[in-house]
Amino acid sequence: MNQSKKQSVNYVCLACHEKEEIPINVVRDFDLMDDGDPTTPPMFACEKCGGEMYPEYYKGVHGIEYKLSDIL
Ligand SMILES: [Zn+2]
Repeated sequence: MNQSKKQSVNYVCLACHEKEEIPINVVRDFDLMDDGDPTTPPMFACEKCGGEMYPEYYKGVHGIEYKLSDIL
């Protein structure tokens, strides 16, 4: 099986609510490089306003689930 489904994580800007799909491998790389606080997911900067983008849903490499609905 070499047909990997293209997966991405929906990120939402906490400031302006802009949405962006970020490829799962990019998010995982960020997650692996970040050995800081495991209670926060890998975050990206919004291209529109520079605000923080939070994943709509993402299960981290350490098995922790992050949901946008948890922080709103
Ligand atoms: Zn924004």
